[in-house]
Amino acid sequence: MTTLGFIGLGNMGGPMAANLLKAGHTVKVFDLVPAALDNLAGLGAITCGSALDATVNVDVLISMLPASVHVETLYLGERGILPHIKGSTLVIDCSTIAPSSAQKVSAAAHERGITMLDAPVSGGVGGAVGGTLTFIVGGTSEGLARAQTLLEVMGENIFHAGAAGAGQVAKICNNMLLSVLMAGTAEALQLGVDNGLDPAVLSEIMRKSSGGNWALEVYNPYPGVMPGVPASKEYEGGFLVDLMIKDLGLAMEAALEKGAATPMGSLARNLYVNHGKAGFGRKDFSSIQAVFNKKPAE
Ligand code: NAD
Repeated sequence: MTTLGFIGLGNMGGPMAANLLKAGHTVKVFDLVPAALDNLAGLGAITCGSALDATVNVDVLISMLPASVHVETLYLGERGILPHIKGSTLVIDCSTIAPSSAQKVSAAAHERGITMLDAPVSGGVGGAVGGTLTFIVGGTSEGLARAQTLLEVMGENIFHAGAAGAGQVAKICNNMLLSVLMAGTAEALQLGVDNGLDPAVLSEIMRKSSGGNWALEVYNPYPGVMPGVPASKEYEGGFLVDLMIKDLGLAMEAALEKGAATPMGSLARNLYVNHGKAGFGRKDFSSIQAVFNKKPAE
Protein backbone atom coordinates (compact mmCIF):
# COMPACT_ATOMS: atom_id res chain seq x y z
CA MET A 1 0.00 0.00 0.00
CA THR A 2 1.17 3.51 -0.80
CA THR A 3 1.25 6.63 1.34
CA LEU A 4 -0.01 9.57 -0.67
CA GLY A 5 -0.46 13.29 -0.29
CA PHE A 6 -3.55 14.72 -2.03
CA ILE A 7 -3.96 18.49 -2.46
CA GLY A 8 -7.22 19.96 -3.81
CA LEU A 9 -10.39 18.14 -2.73
CA GLY A 10 -13.06 19.82 -4.86
CA ASN A 11 -15.67 18.26 -7.15
CA MET A 12 -13.02 16.01 -8.70
CA GLY A 13 -10.21 15.71 -6.14
CA GLY A 14 -12.59 14.78 -3.28
CA PRO A 15 -13.98 11.61 -4.89
CA MET A 16 -10.58 10.70 -6.39
CA ALA A 17 -8.98 10.79 -2.93
CA ALA A 18 -11.96 8.83 -1.56
CA ASN A 19 -11.32 6.03 -4.08
CA LEU A 20 -7.65 5.84 -3.05
CA LEU A 21 -8.75 5.51 0.58
CA LYS A 22 -11.30 2.81 -0.30
CA ALA A 23 -8.52 0.88 -2.08
CA GLY A 24 -6.63 0.79 1.25
CA HIS A 25 -3.97 3.45 0.63
CA THR A 26 -2.95 5.94 3.30
CA VAL A 27 -3.93 9.41 2.11
CA LYS A 28 -2.83 12.72 3.67
CA VAL A 29 -5.19 15.42 2.42
CA PHE A 30 -5.21 19.21 2.24
CA ASP A 31 -7.61 21.80 0.82
CA LEU A 32 -8.08 25.50 1.55
CA VAL A 33 -11.77 24.76 2.31
CA PRO A 34 -12.14 23.03 5.71
CA ALA A 35 -15.44 21.33 4.77
CA ALA A 36 -13.67 19.43 1.99
CA LEU A 37 -11.24 18.04 4.60
CA ASP A 38 -14.07 16.95 6.91
CA ASN A 39 -15.64 14.79 4.19
CA LEU A 40 -12.39 12.92 3.62
CA ALA A 41 -11.62 12.62 7.34
CA GLY A 42 -14.87 10.67 7.66
CA LEU A 43 -13.44 8.14 5.19
CA GLY A 44 -10.20 7.71 7.12
CA ALA A 45 -7.93 10.30 5.50
CA ILE A 46 -5.21 12.03 7.53
CA THR A 47 -6.09 15.73 7.38
CA CYS A 48 -3.26 18.26 7.14
CA GLY A 49 -3.07 21.90 8.20
CA SER A 50 -1.07 22.96 5.13
CA ALA A 51 -0.03 21.77 1.69
CA LEU A 52 3.47 21.34 3.06
CA ASP A 53 2.23 18.89 5.73
CA ALA A 54 0.65 16.77 2.99
CA THR A 55 4.02 16.39 1.25
CA VAL A 56 5.90 15.02 4.28
CA ASN A 57 6.84 11.32 4.12
CA VAL A 58 4.68 10.46 1.14
CA ASP A 59 5.60 8.19 -1.79
CA VAL A 60 3.29 9.94 -4.21
CA LEU A 61 1.88 13.47 -4.22
CA ILE A 62 -1.24 14.27 -6.27
CA SER A 63 -2.65 17.75 -6.88
CA MET A 64 -6.08 18.57 -8.35
CA LEU A 65 -6.42 22.37 -8.48
CA PRO A 66 -8.49 24.75 -10.60
CA ALA A 67 -5.97 26.44 -12.93
CA SER A 68 -2.34 27.19 -13.88
CA VAL A 69 -1.94 29.96 -11.31
CA HIS A 70 -2.90 27.64 -8.45
CA VAL A 71 -0.51 24.91 -9.60
CA GLU A 72 2.41 27.26 -10.20
CA THR A 73 1.85 28.96 -6.83
CA LEU A 74 1.55 25.64 -4.99
CA TYR A 75 4.81 24.23 -6.36
CA LEU A 76 6.92 27.26 -7.31
CA GLY A 77 5.46 30.22 -5.36
CA GLU A 78 7.15 32.13 -2.55
CA ARG A 79 6.05 29.43 -0.10
CA GLY A 80 5.97 26.74 -2.79
CA ILE A 81 6.28 23.10 -1.76
CA LEU A 82 8.67 21.86 -4.45
CA PRO A 83 11.87 22.51 -2.44
CA HIS A 84 10.42 20.38 0.39
CA ILE A 85 9.48 17.33 -1.70
CA LYS A 86 11.78 14.29 -1.41
CA GLY A 87 13.53 13.21 -4.63
CA SER A 88 11.93 9.77 -4.35
CA THR A 89 8.36 11.17 -4.32
CA LEU A 90 6.43 10.81 -7.57
CA VAL A 91 4.42 13.98 -8.25
CA ILE A 92 1.25 13.81 -10.36
CA ASP A 93 -0.68 16.97 -11.20
CA CYS A 94 -4.18 16.09 -12.42
CA SER A 95 -5.40 19.69 -12.84
CA THR A 96 -6.19 21.00 -16.33
CA ILE A 97 -3.66 23.79 -16.90
CA ALA A 98 -1.67 25.44 -19.70
CA PRO A 99 0.82 23.04 -21.31
CA SER A 100 3.54 25.69 -20.77
CA SER A 101 2.75 25.78 -17.02
CA ALA A 102 2.90 21.99 -16.80
CA GLN A 103 6.26 22.04 -18.59
CA LYS A 104 7.59 24.80 -16.30
CA VAL A 105 6.67 22.97 -13.08
CA SER A 106 7.83 19.62 -14.43
CA ALA A 107 11.21 21.08 -15.49
CA ALA A 108 11.69 22.62 -12.02
CA ALA A 109 10.83 19.25 -10.46
CA HIS A 110 13.24 17.48 -12.81
CA GLU A 111 16.04 19.86 -11.76
CA ARG A 112 15.52 18.66 -8.20
CA GLY A 113 15.60 15.01 -9.29
CA ILE A 114 11.83 14.61 -8.84
CA THR A 115 9.71 12.79 -11.42
CA MET A 116 6.55 14.71 -12.27
CA LEU A 117 3.65 13.83 -14.57
CA ASP A 118 0.85 15.99 -15.92
CA ALA A 119 -2.21 13.74 -15.81
CA PRO A 120 -5.37 15.75 -16.51
CA VAL A 121 -8.56 13.75 -16.52
CA SER A 122 -11.73 13.36 -18.50
CA GLY A 123 -14.99 11.78 -17.38
CA GLY A 124 -16.49 14.41 -15.10
CA VAL A 125 -17.60 14.08 -11.49
CA GLY A 126 -19.41 10.81 -12.31
CA GLY A 127 -16.12 9.35 -13.52
CA ALA A 128 -14.30 10.62 -10.42
CA VAL A 129 -16.90 9.08 -8.09
CA GLY A 130 -17.11 5.80 -10.01
CA GLY A 131 -13.35 5.43 -10.48
CA THR A 132 -13.81 5.39 -14.26
CA LEU A 133 -11.84 8.50 -15.25
CA THR A 134 -9.66 8.75 -18.32
CA PHE A 135 -6.13 9.92 -17.47
CA ILE A 136 -4.21 11.70 -20.23
CA VAL A 137 -0.60 11.60 -19.17
CA GLY A 138 2.41 13.70 -20.17
CA GLY A 139 5.88 12.79 -18.91
CA THR A 140 8.28 9.87 -19.06
CA SER A 141 7.27 6.23 -19.58
CA GLU A 142 9.13 5.38 -16.37
CA GLY A 143 7.08 7.93 -14.43
CA LEU A 144 3.86 6.57 -15.90
CA ALA A 145 4.88 3.00 -15.03
CA ARG A 146 5.29 4.08 -11.39
CA ALA A 147 1.87 5.82 -11.43
CA GLN A 148 -0.07 3.14 -13.32
CA THR A 149 -1.48 1.13 -10.38
CA LEU A 150 -2.67 4.23 -8.55
CA LEU A 151 -4.21 5.76 -11.66
CA GLU A 152 -6.05 2.47 -12.21
CA VAL A 153 -7.71 2.91 -8.79
CA MET A 154 -9.19 6.23 -9.96
CA GLY A 155 -9.72 5.55 -13.64
CA GLU A 156 -10.17 2.92 -16.29
CA ASN A 157 -8.47 4.43 -19.33
CA ILE A 158 -4.86 5.62 -19.08
CA PHE A 159 -3.23 7.20 -22.13
CA HIS A 160 0.36 8.31 -22.56
CA ALA A 161 0.07 11.43 -24.75
CA GLY A 162 3.84 12.15 -24.88
CA ALA A 163 6.45 14.21 -23.01
CA ALA A 164 5.76 16.73 -20.21
CA GLY A 165 2.83 19.00 -21.14
CA ALA A 166 1.47 16.61 -23.80
CA GLY A 167 -1.29 15.42 -21.46
CA GLN A 168 -2.50 19.01 -21.19
CA VAL A 169 -2.45 19.56 -24.95
CA ALA A 170 -4.59 16.45 -25.54
CA LYS A 171 -6.93 17.44 -22.71
CA ILE A 172 -7.60 20.95 -24.04
CA CYS A 173 -8.23 19.56 -27.55
CA ASN A 174 -10.78 17.20 -26.00
CA ASN A 175 -12.49 19.92 -23.98
CA MET A 176 -12.70 22.27 -26.95
CA LEU A 177 -14.51 19.49 -28.83
CA LEU A 178 -16.72 18.82 -25.80
CA SER A 179 -17.81 22.48 -25.63
CA VAL A 180 -18.74 22.43 -29.30
CA LEU A 181 -20.67 19.16 -28.88
CA MET A 182 -22.52 20.39 -25.80
CA ALA A 183 -23.50 23.74 -27.35
CA GLY A 184 -24.56 22.03 -30.58
CA THR A 185 -26.60 19.43 -28.70
CA ALA A 186 -28.37 22.14 -26.66
CA GLU A 187 -29.10 24.12 -29.83
CA ALA A 188 -30.57 21.07 -31.62
CA LEU A 189 -32.68 20.06 -28.61
CA GLN A 190 -34.18 23.54 -28.31
CA LEU A 191 -34.91 23.67 -32.05
CA GLY A 192 -36.86 20.42 -31.64
CA VAL A 193 -38.71 21.61 -28.54
CA ASP A 194 -39.61 24.94 -30.21
CA ASN A 195 -41.09 22.89 -33.03
CA GLY A 196 -43.22 20.78 -30.72
CA LEU A 197 -41.01 17.75 -30.01
CA ASP A 198 -40.60 16.07 -26.63
CA PRO A 199 -36.92 16.61 -25.67
CA ALA A 200 -36.66 13.02 -24.34
CA VAL A 201 -37.98 11.55 -27.59
CA LEU A 202 -35.73 13.78 -29.70
CA SER A 203 -32.72 12.92 -27.50
CA GLU A 204 -33.27 9.21 -28.03
CA ILE A 205 -33.68 9.64 -31.80
CA MET A 206 -30.46 11.68 -32.10
CA ARG A 207 -28.57 9.41 -29.70
CA LYS A 208 -29.21 6.46 -32.02
CA SER A 209 -28.69 8.51 -35.21
CA SER A 210 -25.73 10.25 -36.80
CA GLY A 211 -25.91 13.13 -34.28
CA GLY A 212 -25.22 10.75 -31.37
CA ASN A 213 -22.53 12.00 -29.00
CA TRP A 214 -21.30 11.89 -25.36
CA ALA A 215 -23.74 14.61 -24.20
CA LEU A 216 -26.71 12.61 -25.49
CA GLU A 217 -25.29 9.36 -24.08
CA VAL A 218 -24.52 10.37 -20.51
CA TYR A 219 -24.86 14.15 -19.93
CA ASN A 220 -28.06 15.39 -21.55
CA PRO A 221 -28.29 19.22 -21.15
CA TYR A 222 -32.09 19.40 -21.28
CA PRO A 223 -33.72 19.49 -17.79
CA GLY A 224 -35.60 16.36 -16.82
CA VAL A 225 -34.52 14.15 -19.75
CA MET A 226 -31.84 12.17 -17.91
CA PRO A 227 -31.99 11.41 -14.17
CA GLY A 228 -29.00 12.32 -12.00
CA VAL A 229 -27.19 14.63 -14.43
CA PRO A 230 -26.64 18.34 -13.58
CA ALA A 231 -29.43 19.38 -16.02
CA SER A 232 -31.90 17.57 -13.77
CA LYS A 233 -30.46 19.21 -10.60
CA GLU A 234 -30.69 22.90 -11.57
CA TYR A 235 -27.24 22.48 -13.17
CA GLU A 236 -25.58 22.08 -9.74
CA GLY A 237 -22.30 20.14 -9.35
CA GLY A 238 -20.50 18.77 -12.37
CA PHE A 239 -18.06 20.82 -14.45
CA LEU A 240 -18.37 24.57 -13.90
CA VAL A 241 -18.93 27.02 -16.76
CA ASP A 242 -16.01 29.02 -15.32
CA LEU A 243 -13.74 25.97 -15.72
CA MET A 244 -14.90 25.40 -19.30
CA ILE A 245 -14.16 29.07 -20.05
CA LYS A 246 -10.68 28.54 -18.59
CA ASP A 247 -10.09 25.45 -20.77
CA LEU A 248 -11.34 27.22 -23.90
CA GLY A 249 -8.97 30.10 -23.10
CA LEU A 250 -6.12 27.54 -22.92
CA ALA A 251 -7.21 26.13 -26.29
CA MET A 252 -7.24 29.62 -27.83
CA GLU A 253 -3.75 30.34 -26.43
CA ALA A 254 -2.44 27.08 -27.88
CA ALA A 255 -4.05 27.89 -31.23
CA LEU A 256 -2.55 31.40 -31.34
CA GLU A 257 0.88 30.10 -30.38
CA LYS A 258 0.98 27.67 -33.31
CA GLY A 259 -1.21 29.55 -35.82
CA ALA A 260 -3.96 26.89 -35.76
CA ALA A 261 -7.46 27.83 -36.96
CA THR A 262 -10.14 27.05 -34.35
CA PRO A 263 -13.34 28.77 -35.55
CA MET A 264 -15.71 26.37 -33.76
CA GLY A 265 -13.74 26.53 -30.53
CA SER A 266 -13.63 30.30 -30.75
CA LEU A 267 -17.42 30.49 -31.18
CA ALA A 268 -17.95 28.06 -28.31
CA ARG A 269 -15.65 30.15 -26.11
CA ASN A 270 -17.62 33.32 -26.88
CA LEU A 271 -20.91 31.54 -26.11
CA TYR A 272 -19.54 30.30 -22.79
CA VAL A 273 -17.98 33.65 -21.82
CA ASN A 274 -21.30 35.44 -22.36
CA HIS A 275 -23.10 32.64 -20.53
CA GLY A 276 -20.74 33.04 -17.56
CA LYS A 277 -21.36 36.80 -17.56
CA ALA A 278 -25.10 36.12 -17.51
CA GLY A 279 -24.64 34.57 -14.04
CA PHE A 280 -23.98 30.92 -14.88
CA GLY A 281 -20.26 30.79 -14.02
CA ARG A 282 -20.77 28.46 -11.02
CA LYS A 283 -23.31 26.25 -12.81
CA ASP A 284 -22.49 23.09 -14.75
CA PHE A 285 -21.38 23.63 -18.36
CA SER A 286 -24.46 21.81 -19.73
CA SER A 287 -26.42 24.90 -18.56
CA ILE A 288 -25.45 26.33 -21.98
CA GLN A 289 -28.95 24.99 -22.75
CA ALA A 290 -30.26 28.19 -21.12
CA VAL A 291 -28.68 30.28 -23.90
CA PHE A 292 -31.11 28.62 -26.29
CA ASN A 293 -34.24 28.46 -24.12
CA LYS A 294 -33.47 31.84 -22.51
CA LYS A 295 -33.84 30.56 -18.94
CA PRO A 296 -32.52 33.17 -16.45
CA ALA A 297 -29.83 32.20 -13.89
CA GLU A 298 -31.26 31.33 -10.45
P1 NAD B 1 -13.14 22.64 -7.81
O1 NAD B 1 -13.14 24.12 -7.89
O2 NAD B 1 -14.37 21.91 -7.42
O3 NAD B 1 -11.98 22.14 -6.80
C1 NAD B 1 -10.72 22.73 -6.69
C2 NAD B 1 -10.30 22.62 -5.23
O4 NAD B 1 -8.96 23.10 -5.10
C3 NAD B 1 -11.16 23.46 -4.29
O5 NAD B 1 -11.67 22.63 -3.26
C4 NAD B 1 -10.20 24.52 -3.76
O6 NAD B 1 -10.47 24.89 -2.42
C5 NAD B 1 -8.88 23.78 -3.86
N1 NAD B 1 -7.70 24.65 -3.88
C6 NAD B 1 -7.45 25.72 -4.64
N2 NAD B 1 -6.21 26.21 -4.38
C7 NAD B 1 -5.68 25.41 -3.43
C8 NAD B 1 -4.44 25.38 -2.73
N3 NAD B 1 -3.48 26.28 -2.97
N4 NAD B 1 -4.24 24.41 -1.82
C9 NAD B 1 -5.19 23.48 -1.57
N5 NAD B 1 -6.39 23.45 -2.19
C10 NAD B 1 -6.63 24.41 -3.10
O7 NAD B 1 -12.60 22.12 -9.23
P2 NAD B 1 -12.79 20.66 -9.85
O8 NAD B 1 -14.08 20.60 -10.58
O9 NAD B 1 -12.45 19.65 -8.81
O10 NAD B 1 -11.64 20.71 -10.96
C11 NAD B 1 -10.27 20.57 -10.64
C12 NAD B 1 -9.50 20.49 -11.95
O11 NAD B 1 -9.99 19.36 -12.72
C13 NAD B 1 -9.66 21.73 -12.85
O12 NAD B 1 -8.44 22.02 -13.48
C14 NAD B 1 -10.71 21.30 -13.87
O13 NAD B 1 -10.57 21.99 -15.10
C15 NAD B 1 -10.40 19.81 -14.00
N6 NAD B 1 -11.52 18.96 -14.41
C16 NAD B 1 -12.76 19.10 -13.85
C17 NAD B 1 -13.80 18.27 -14.27
C18 NAD B 1 -15.19 18.39 -13.69
O14 NAD B 1 -16.12 17.76 -14.24
N7 NAD B 1 -15.38 19.11 -12.59
C19 NAD B 1 -13.57 17.29 -15.24
C20 NAD B 1 -12.29 17.15 -15.76
C21 NAD B 1 -11.28 17.99 -15.33
